[in-house]
Amino acid sequence: MSDTTIPLPLTLASGVERLFPTLTPAQIERIAARGRVCSFRPGEVLIEVGARVVPFFVVLRGRIEVVRPAARNETLVAIHGPGQFTGEVNMLSGRPALLRSRASEAGEAIELDHEQLLTLVQTDSELSELFMRAFILRRVELIAHGLGDVVLLGSNHCSGTLRVKEFLTRNGHPYSYIDLDRDTDVQDLLDRFQVTASDVPVLICRGEVVLRNPTNQQIAICLGFNEVIDGSQIRDVVIVGAGPAGLAAAVYGASEGLDVLVLETNAPGGQAGSSSKIENYLGFPTGISGQALAGRAYTQAQKFGAQVIIAKRAQRLACERQPYAVEVDVSVSVAARTIIIATGASYRKPAIENLAFYENAGVYYGATFMEALLCRGEEVVVVGGGNSAGQAAIYLAQTAKRVYMLVRSSGLAESMSRYLVRRIESNPAIVLRTNTEIVNLEGSNHVERVRWRDHRSGAVDTRDIRHVFLMTGAVPGTQWLDGCVALDANGFIKTGLDLSQDDLAAAHWPLARSPYLLETSLPGVFAVGDVRGGNIKRVASAVGEGSIAISFVHRVLSA
Ligand SMILES: Cc1cc2nc3c(=O)[nH]c(=O)nc-3n(C[C@H](O)[C@H](O)[C@H](O)COP(=O)(O)OP(=O)(O)OC[C@H]3O[C@@H](n4cnc5c(N)ncnc54)[C@H](O)[C@@H]3O)c2cc1C
Repeated sequence: MSDTTIPLPLTLASGVERLFPTLTPAQIERIAARGRVCSFRPGEVLIEVGARVVPFFVVLRGRIEVVRPAARNETLVAIHGPGQFTGEVNMLSGRPALLRSRASEAGEAIELDHEQLLTLVQTDSELSELFMRAFILRRVELIAHGLGDVVLLGSNHCSGTLRVKEFLTRNGHPYSYIDLDRDTDVQDLLDRFQVTASDVPVLICRGEVVLRNPTNQQIAICLGFNEVIDGSQIRDVVIVGAGPAGLAAAVYGASEGLDVLVLETNAPGGQAGSSSKIENYLGFPTGISGQALAGRAYTQAQKFGAQVIIAKRAQRLACERQPYAVEVDVSVSVAARTIIIATGASYRKPAIENLAFYENAGVYYGATFMEALLCRGEEVVVVGGGNSAGQAAIYLAQTAKRVYMLVRSSGLAESMSRYLVRRIESNPAIVLRTNTEIVNLEGSNHVERVRWRDHRSGAVDTRDIRHVFLMTGAVPGTQWLDGCVALDANGFIKTGLDLSQDDLAAAHWPLARSPYLLETSLPGVFAVGDVRGGNIKRVASAVGEGSIAISFVHRVLSA
């Protein structure tokens, strides 16, 4: 039993009824029909920390307490009484248990295994909504209170620490953080164990394993983020990339009965996951953070049975064979009848300190109607000398007071269309600054000031400008494809009608039919979202394309 009981953090949280709902007799009856009744003794551990097989319990009689064990003290997290149920997000993901569940009194419960719970949430919409909401809210509370199985020791001035924090946060994994810059006692301790600056951050995983400056993949392994990939299985569809496009494909594919495996290099959410607030995604009138959107989509995909593998990069597409295979590690490859490439793009980013802090808070990678509204009547900066920068400058100049166009080289790119060059040169609202680069952004929560330097004169200019558009191009995530599919002049994947007869002839397109919408020059291989040539660079379009691709996957599978 507990040495020390810390006040119940979760039950103190607001919305306790949503976190710990009490089921009605009718609901309990429906659950009982799927599971078995078991009895427990006081003190009996029902779920141990780290357990991979995590049953789900609905208490009928007695109580189950949930604790976070520690060497000296244990933290009491919650108590489930009659009509209440155990579990949080990892009930669906199949990840190891973060907390210990133990009977605090003798009693009885209905027990469901992982598969039985999945079937229940897929078939009973009322219970599905109730469980989902409670699981997600419980995970949010665990994160808020740092009640996980990870302690991170690091410094906010260390890029490795920031990387690990971002990885844990974007994977929705709760952790406690010890700041070595503030806690000198801990720093002394580390010194004694000869933990040097290059070993920081240090991650104590599940209270057992000490990892020094671990890679994301090492963390994923230690925390049991992934189930073992069964290399002998041929999947209906392997989706590469878990940004909005890949997650949408996973949700639609798995919900329509396909055997889906998703591979993701980093964390679910892709570019959208780094956005602090997405305001133009349908159905969220007050906006939603990219991370919340990604977290929900990730849980939704798992609810329908998609297997999502985190921190695993697709290294190569074996396209010379049928079925195709995606090589993950030297030893692991996954065979698939169809492939959806959803590897997105990454923006070329100038080396500006704190750039990430200002993303969506004054720094933008696209100039749409929404951004134009934001900076109406104000001065703005557009960085870049190519076509996209030129188009953005002309577009923004219609509403902005002045557009400073900063170009690192001595002029606009040779590739810029002549009509754009003429319009920029003749537009009095656009001021072109060549040989110039931003050196600094300032502002408390939003960009308020921009400093730029002219390389020839060395002069630094400081302006009170609140909007910076970085239009320096995006690099598509196609390196791993190694010539398997036809690309456009900028390296993005050509699909559907964009594939010319010459493209198809060069790719030896073997079928009588033309490629489907979103299908690449390789039959049964689709490209969706920002990696696709002509993409729209929107969360909604990426999600839409992910869902559309699944309808064509069905056609390929049934041919
Ligand atoms: C800061 C920011 C804010 C934004 N705000 C908005 C907004 O408010 N509204 C809006 O509509 N759009 C917004 N966008 C654009 C939107 O986020 C993108 O259009 C969208 O995320 C594209 O989705 P995607 O799934 O195609 O690609 P991505 O989001 O780029 O996801 C691709 C995923 O594939 C993974 N991956 C890449 N290579 C591999 C590999 N070899 N193996 C395995 N995985 C791989 C990546 O790690 C990544 O997670 C924003 C973008 C950024 C950067």
